[in-house]
Amino acid sequence: MKASNYKLDPWKIIEYGWDPKKILGSESIFSIGNGSMGQRANFEEGFSGKTLQGSYIAGIYYPDKTKVGWWKNGYPEYFAKVINAPNWIGLSIKIDGAPLDLNKVEKIDRFERILDMKKGLYQRFVSFKMKNDLKVEINSKRFLSMKRKSIGAISYSLKSNQDIEIHITPFIDFDVSNNDSNWDEKFWEIQEITNTKKKSLVRSSVRKSGFNVITYMKANLYDDNIKLENPFQTKSTTKKIALESKYSLKKDRTLKVEKFGGYVTSKCNNWGKIESEANKILKLLGNNSFESLFQEHKNEWAKIWEQSDIEISGDNKSQQAVRFNIFHLNQTYKGDNPNLNFGPKGFTGEKYGGSTYWDTEAYCIPFCLGTKPPEVTLNLLNYRYRHLDKAIENAKKLGFKNGAALFPMVTMNGEECHNEWEITFEEIHRNNAIAFAIFNYSRYTDDYQFLSGKGIEILVGICRFWAQRVSYSYKKKSYVILGVTGPNEYENNVNNNWYTNYSTKWCFEFTIDSINTIKKNHIKLFDKFSKKLNFKENEMDYWLEVSKNIYLHENKEFKVFVQQDGFFDKELTEVDKLDYSERPLNQNWSWDRILRSPYIKQADVLQGIYFFEDEFNIESIKSNYEFYQKFTVHESSLSPCIHSIIASKLGKTESAYDLFKRASRLDLDDYNNEVNEGLHITSMAGSWLSIVEGFAGMRVKNNSLHFTPRLPKNWEELIFKIHFRKNVFKIKVKKNLFHCSSLLKHGLYIHVNNKKLKFNNNGKAYISI
Ligand code: BGC
Repeated sequence: MKASNYKLDPWKIIEYGWDPKKILGSESIFSIGNGSMGQRANFEEGFSGKTLQGSYIAGIYYPDKTKVGWWKNGYPEYFAKVINAPNWIGLSIKIDGAPLDLNKVEKIDRFERILDMKKGLYQRFVSFKMKNDLKVEINSKRFLSMKRKSIGAISYSLKSNQDIEIHITPFIDFDVSNNDSNWDEKFWEIQEITNTKKKSLVRSSVRKSGFNVITYMKANLYDDNIKLENPFQTKSTTKKIALESKYSLKKDRTLKVEKFGGYVTSKCNNWGKIESEANKILKLLGNNSFESLFQEHKNEWAKIWEQSDIEISGDNKSQQAVRFNIFHLNQTYKGDNPNLNFGPKGFTGEKYGGSTYWDTEAYCIPFCLGTKPPEVTLNLLNYRYRHLDKAIENAKKLGFKNGAALFPMVTMNGEECHNEWEITFEEIHRNNAIAFAIFNYSRYTDDYQFLSGKGIEILVGICRFWAQRVSYSYKKKSYVILGVTGPNEYENNVNNNWYTNYSTKWCFEFTIDSINTIKKNHIKLFDKFSKKLNFKENEMDYWLEVSKNIYLHENKEFKVFVQQDGFFDKELTEVDKLDYSERPLNQNWSWDRILRSPYIKQADVLQGIYFFEDEFNIESIKSNYEFYQKFTVHESSLSPCIHSIIASKLGKTESAYDLFKRASRLDLDDYNNEVNEGLHITSMAGSWLSIVEGFAGMRVKNNSLHFTPRLPKNWEELIFKIHFRKNVFKIKVKKNLFHCSSLLKHGLYIHVNNKKLKFNNNGKAYISI
C-alpha cells in the first residue's frame, strides 16, 4: 500500500506540513463542490508556485475545435470542455507593502489543511514569518452551499505579532483560461461589468455555446468581529473587478474578511432573468453571515450523510477513504437537475472535459439506486433519452441508417465530442452500458414505466445499430463484431472483443424480451412506439438470429472467455514479472508496446462477468478471474473495484480487500500518479460498489435483496443504508451476525446467504452468519 500524504481521521482529510511539490495534488484532494459549481482548493491570496487554477460550473461548456494530427471522417467538430470560470475566491493581500505569497515568505512555521467531510467545510491554517520577525497567521474556511446552488462563502482571518498596515483586496478575476485549450482561444466574452459599493458583477458569455453567466461577489470586513462600515473602495481593470481596503491592524487583533461569490447562469439570452436572480442573492447575502449560511449548508450535508454514509469499525483507512469517495460523489452530482451528469473528474480538474462517459451507467447509477430515491436515476436515464435523436444522428454520420443509435463516448449535449478514432468509432460497447442501466433501474425499482416508454425507444435504436454493425463470418459460421476497442483501452481495433460481443447478445435478448412483454401487457404502448419508430416486429427475427449465433470464443485449455481474437498469440508474461519502475505503463511505455503486450488496462472480460454474473457458473467465474487478474494493471480507476467485487464473490476476501483499498484510496494515496490533474470521481462509485456488492454481497434477485456478507479480517462492523423499492433498509454486518432494519415499511423480507429472512413487527430481522 502506498503511503498517504494525509493524516487518518474518520471524517476528515488532514494535511500537515508545507511542501510546495504537493500543492497540485492537494488542490485536487481538497476540492469542494455543490453539484452546480465546484473548485479546486486554490489559495485565496494567490500563489506564484505551481498551481492549477480551477473553478467550474456544471453544464457550462465551450465547444473547443477538434485538434488532431490526422483528421478522419466522422470525427466530431469539437470537444466540449467544462471551462475554467471567472475566479471569485481571490483576495489579494499586502502586508506592510509586501504582497502575500506563500511561495515567497521567509519561513512557513505551520501549514495545515482540513477537509471536514461531515460538514462540507474546507479549512486552512497557516503561520509564517515575513521580514523583521513579523509573524502572521491565517485561518481560512470555505464552502459551496449545498442549500443554495449559487452561493459560495469564505471566511478569511489574519492576525500578526506586530502592528501592520494591511491592504486587502477581494476580487473577481475574469481573465481566466483552460490549460487544456486546443488553440489558445479565449472561451469567455466579457459583456459588462458592474462594480459599485453595493454590487460587484461580471456578465460574461461563453463563446460559441452562448451560455450566459453572472459572476458576483460581496465582501464584509471585521476587526475582532466588529463589522467595519464602508471599508472598501472599488477598482476595475480589464481583467479584474476589485474592492480595496487599507487598514491598520493592531498586533494580536484579527482582521476577518467574509467573502461570498458564485455564479448565476442561463442557456439563452435572458440577462434580465439572471440579473434579477443575482440581485436576489446579493440581497439575501446582505442579511446573512458566513456562519448562518454555513449552518444551513451543514444541515444539508447531515441529510446526505443520513442517507448515504457507510460506517466501518476496525479500519480507519477504509473508513476515511469511503467517506472521501461518497463525499466527492455528492459534491459532483446532486440528482435534481436532469441536464447534469457525473463528469469523471467532477469539478476537480480539466481532464475529460467534465463530460458524460459510460462511467455513469456502469458505475454511478448503481450508487444512486442504492443511496438516493429513484427519481435521481430517472434523471440520469432521461438525460440519455433526451440525447437519443443526437445518437441517431451520430450513427447516421458514420453510415448507419433506419434509426440506428450510437450514443457518444463523451458528451455534454448528446453530440459526440471524443476524437481518437480507436475510441470514438470503436469503443462502441458504451451503447450496451446504457441498455444495461435501463435493465438495472427496472429490476431494482420494479418501475417498468421508463422501460416501456422512453427506454424501449433507446433499446430499439441500440439494437438497430448492432444489427448493422455485426457481420457474418462464413469461416466462423457466426456473427462477428470487427474493429472495436473493448473496455480495455490497451487493445485497439480488435475483432470480437468478448465483452462487446456478449453484451450485444444480451442487449438483443433483453430488448426482444421487453418488446414482447410490452406487447402482451400494454398493447397501446407497443402500438405507440412501433408507430413512432416505424418498428416492424420482424426486425426482431434478425436480432434473435444474431444473438443466438454471435461469436463468443472460449479457450478450453484455460477455461476462459477469450478477450479478443489473437489474445492467446501474445507472450503471456504476468504483471507480477514487470519491473515496478515501469508502472504505470501508460506513463512509461510507447503505445505500440502496450498494444502488443498482454496487459489489460481495466476489467474487460471480467466487466462482462460482473454485469451478467447470473449467466455464468462459479467455476467459470473463478477461472476467468484467476486468469485475467494476472494480466490486469488497473491503470484505469474503474478497474480494481470490479475485480474486488468478483474476488469477494469467490470468497477471496483478502484479495478483494487489497483491490478495494486500491479503488477507494486511489486518489488519497495517488496510486496512478495523476492526482495533480484532478480526482477520479466516477470510479468512487466503484468503491461504494466494492463494499455493498462486494463485502456485503448485495444483489437484487427475484424482487428481493440478497446478501452474502464476507467482511475483511480487520472489519469489526459494517453499517450502511440502502434504498430499495420505496423502502430504506439499514444493514449492519458483524463477523457472526447480520442485522437489517426496514426503516419505512414492515412485512417485507430479504435473503441472507440464500435464507429467507422475515422482518418482525418492529421491522427488524437478523441472522447468525
Ligand atoms: C477509461 C474509460 C473511462 C474514462 C473516463 C478511461 O481511462 O479507460 O473506461 O470511461 O477513463 O473515466
